[in-house]
Amino acid sequence: MLAFLYALALLGFPVSDAPAGLCRSDLAPRAYGPGDVVFVVLSCDATPMTARVSYAGGEVPLFRLEDSAAGRIESAEAGAAAVPGLLRDTPVRLGLLLGIDVSTPPGAPGLDWEVQFGGGDYETGMHRLTVTARSFPVQRLRLPRRYAEPDPETTTRIREESERLKRILAGARAERVWRGAFDSPLPDARGGGFGARRVLNGRTSSPHTGIDLGAPSGEAVYASNAGVVALVDTLYLGGKTVVLDHGLGLFTIYCHLSQTSVLEGDLLARGRMLGRVGATGRVTGPHLHW
Ligand SMILES: [Zn+2]
Repeated sequence: MLAFLYALALLGFPVSDAPAGLCRSDLAPRAYGPGDVVFVVLSCDATPMTARVSYAGGEVPLFRLEDSAAGRIESAEAGAAAVPGLLRDTPVRLGLLLGIDVSTPPGAPGLDWEVQFGGGDYETGMHRLTVTARSFPVQRLRLPRRYAEPDPETTTRIREESERLKRILAGARAERVWRGAFDSPLPDARGGGFGARRVLNGRTSSPHTGIDLGAPSGEAVYASNAGVVALVDTLYLGGKTVVLDHGLGLFTIYCHLSQTSVLEGDLLARGRMLGRVGATGRVTGPHLHW
């Protein structure tokens, strides 16, 4: 058995949380489920030139944690590019946020990291997450036919709008705009429905990838955190919609608004009003899809 383990070590078989080397990854030791956001800290005893993290086939942006040493370097965002101005041999803590997709099956996906130091030294590691199954309720909704069974022209429009949203999400700002925790855009509203398996007029539809916050039409909707307005438009399903780009791949989306009060490109402070609750798009009544 020992020999077997030794062989694995020689092969570089990933050992979660291995304390060897200059860097280690930490996250709260619990099981995660689809829809969770996981906060991971990558701590290094010396300052890397570059740091890269990948998960589920994609690169995950890193950000420098403000409470780390050498905090005097203001806007040092790590990532694939070099971190300019950082001091070698200064401990650094980098943070990253992982969204566990609503359709992630149970398993132990790995988070791979690769850190490069000056002089060509580099270090790699892997952290396994535990993803458990989570059951979501089934929601059966009755909708006007034009929403449940759109005609071919409308289907094309829906697909084009979905592609446009994907392009916006793929073009995230490279710098972090958000700071701290996110606020509810409707502080007094209650909500739910994330992940619900939707059956629209008896037909299975895609799962619900937002939270529906109940509020009367006209209620003010606020930016959850600082962000740049990436989209203001009327979409077939989402109705009047605002998308905020908070940087490093983090977005919030506000749908079914009755009116919007911001323009694309605006930099919004946390808590800035961006529109009002409505019932535009595919809805059964006024609410905010967030
Ligand atoms: Zn919704």
